[in-house]
Amino acid sequence: MSVQRSRSPFERLRQKFDDGDRRCRECGYVDADGGWRVTAAGSEVRYQRMCPTCDAVEVREMRL
Ligand SMILES: [Zn+2]
Repeated sequence: MSVQRSRSPFERLRQKFDDGDRRCRECGYVDADGGWRVTAAGSEVRYQRMCPTCDAVEVREMRL
């Protein structure tokens, strides 16, 4: 599932992550071009990101 370019709550939250949380916890690599992949199920939103250098996966889960 993807999120359209709009002023949805998903988009605002994703931009918040994009601004401040790009560093890989495993290897410390900062992925300047990376973004969070967003999936939603009901009122839960899951943000997932994979490090391009070590393939570590970071996941954040939020409730709207
Ligand atoms: Zn990494």
